[in-house]
Amino acid sequence: MATLNVANLHVEVSGKRILRGVSLEVKQGEIVALMGPNGSGKSTLFQTIAGNPNYRIVEGDIAIDGVSIKDLAPEERFNKGIYVSFQSPISVPEVRFGFLIQAVMNKRMGRKMDEPNPKMAEALKIAEEIGLRRDIFDRGVGVGFSGGEFKRAEVLLAYLMRPAIAILDEPDSGLDIDGIAAVSKIISSLARESSGVLLSTHYARILKFLEPDRVYVMYSGRIIMAGGSEIVKRVEEVGYEGLFKESGVFQ
Ligand code: ADP
Ligand code: MG
Ligand code: MG
Repeated sequence: MATLNVANLHVEVSGKRILRGVSLEVKQGEIVALMGPNGSGKSTLFQTIAGNPNYRIVEGDIAIDGVSIKDLAPEERFNKGIYVSFQSPISVPEVRFGFLIQAVMNKRMGRKMDEPNPKMAEALKIAEEIGLRRDIFDRGVGVGFSGGEFKRAEVLLAYLMRPAIAILDEPDSGLDIDGIAAVSKIISSLARESSGVLLSTHYARILKFLEPDRVYVMYSGRIIMAGGSEIVKRVEEVGYEGLFKESGVFQ
């Protein structure tokens, strides 16, 4: 069972300090939520875990099972089982989405990338459950995808990849309530069947479906609160500002 550990992480972007001592943990099988208002540093944390070279670690560490990965290239981190889906979607028009799905499943099953995969029908069924229409499989990756289709596609990819740790940046953004319910169902299955899930969100709504094992609240590059679903409830009742006032972070 893999564990991702972020310890006292300080990160600079373009010479500006963004993360100021972030620590958190995600174990395989867990759902962990990172909440926080816009600009608090959630995406910065995820980019840093993925190994984006523009995000410079000035202090602290990122480790899988106690082994540091902070000096590894992004693809080596991926090979260690860390999959990060980003807030800003990526387009690869020359690759059909259906081919990408097939390649992802082949890789997982140790098969050649371009051979037909016996589980393709299963993937199509899950895509349908997530609310993706069939014709998306014939389009280039990202071509004409709506915001909601991007989010659904990312969650589908994570589910089919079965990484040790799946990191999802705002998987609920741009989705209607049915979309959030459908995506939550697949995220729950992912955690139950194979992976630790770390997801960011501004909103309590998706967490009502997911019932996370742990909730962290980030503000201004720090984790200012950690706990259970009582935090989610409080965010809904009083908002971030109310929560910060209560907890004294503004003093
Ligand atoms: P969140 O995902 O919680 O909304 P971000 O990680 O996107 O927060 O942003 C955190 C802070 O870092 C913000 O103040 C943002 O302006 C700043 N920031 C993020 N990316 C960059 C960048 N590439 N260059 C400069 N500042 C950045
Ligand atoms: Mg944001
Ligand atoms: Mg963000």
